[in-house]
Amino acid sequence: MASVLVINSGSSSFKYQLIDAETEERLASGLVERIGEASGHATHDTADGHWERSLEIPDHTAGFAVMTDAFAEHGPSLTDNAPVAVGHRVVHGGARFFEPTLVTPLVLINIEDLSDLAPLHNPANVEGIKAAQQAFPDLPQVAVFDTAFHQTMPPDAYTYGLEATTAERYRIRRYGFHGTSHKFVSEAAAAFVGRPLDDLKQIVLHLGNGASVCAVDGGRSVDTSMGFTPLEGLVMGTRTGDIDPAVLLYLQRRTRIAVDELDDLLNKRSGILGLSGHKDMRDLTRAADAGDEAAELALGVYVRRLKRYLGAYIAELGGVDVISFTAGVGENSAIVRARALGGLERLGIVLDADRNNGPNHGPRVISTDASPVTVLVVPTNEELEIARQTLDVVG
Ligand code: ADP
Repeated sequence: MASVLVINSGSSSFKYQLIDAETEERLASGLVERIGEASGHATHDTADGHWERSLEIPDHTAGFAVMTDAFAEHGPSLTDNAPVAVGHRVVHGGARFFEPTLVTPLVLINIEDLSDLAPLHNPANVEGIKAAQQAFPDLPQVAVFDTAFHQTMPPDAYTYGLEATTAERYRIRRYGFHGTSHKFVSEAAAAFVGRPLDDLKQIVLHLGNGASVCAVDGGRSVDTSMGFTPLEGLVMGTRTGDIDPAVLLYLQRRTRIAVDELDDLLNKRSGILGLSGHKDMRDLTRAADAGDEAAELALGVYVRRLKRYLGAYIAELGGVDVISFTAGVGENSAIVRARALGGLERLGIVLDADRNNGPNHGPRVISTDASPVTVLVVPTNEELEIARQTLDVVG
């Protein structure tokens, strides 16, 4: 049986999944973490069980050996379920990569060259690709970019109102992220409602730790809330989302805050965490329920921003047929969904409270039958989407 190995590589860890090329079944998944630390850790999950191992893992290449050992020891066998390719999540494809791409030496140089746009992510993705090339020298490696789906945004959606020469010189424009998820969910939503993708105006809300909204017209991304980096847009677990850039100038002048510290403040210490002390939506809603005022404010700020983007994208699209919620918060938080869509009946959005509070099981409708706009919860599956796109490339 043929399979695809999907790799999502970070700087000190990587996640993997082995996916059956025909049935799309997940055959195994795992996480190799704390690479380069004194004690590394690896997990491996199959239908038959869960295994863990602690050992020193000096680099990604050693991490790949730990992974192939796990397959050899606990299965499934990589001989019986031979991968036909390795698909890699790559965060930033800049304006160069607009589709999944077979990794050649030139492509790898280009991905490395985009590292100044994604200093935390692209170098780590390259590490993963290089380690996979060593572990599986005969297999094609395919890069699937988080930004690719948004390359269909029109220039007036991706251009900032920044002086053009500066923007061009430093490649400053909106790129968007979470593209693999927005693509997967918008296609799954169209299939679920049984209507052609081409005919649908959709809004996808990917609400995880990182969060973004995407306006999808006829299957193409026409606008999305993350921009030059994943900091723009929604209020997230630890990120500010949109903020007047003059606040940064003010802080810099007032406190002489260093650039790295500012980065940390905006990306890691703000969002619902910075407002309330809770980074996890479950803790935040529990605290708000218990009357914690900071938690209630954080939830209010989070939800209002969602609503603002919904309104903006309904206007940009000229109406909407389907709204889908996905990722950790989107799939699980009935409260966030209810508050984000509350009071939008005049826009044709009518939530069914029972359906919204009902149990999770694959894609499901949470609007009323009479609601002109269909609202869905659609579980995302970025790894499966990467496997599909990888197979498209290798045929
Ligand atoms: P990531 O962006 O890291 O991939 P996920 O999509 O896994 O994130 O989302 C993680 C977040 O989802 C958690 O931090 C938490 O806020 C939220 N979450 C997970 N389960 C629930 C739940 N049952 N109710 C509300 N929020 C949840």
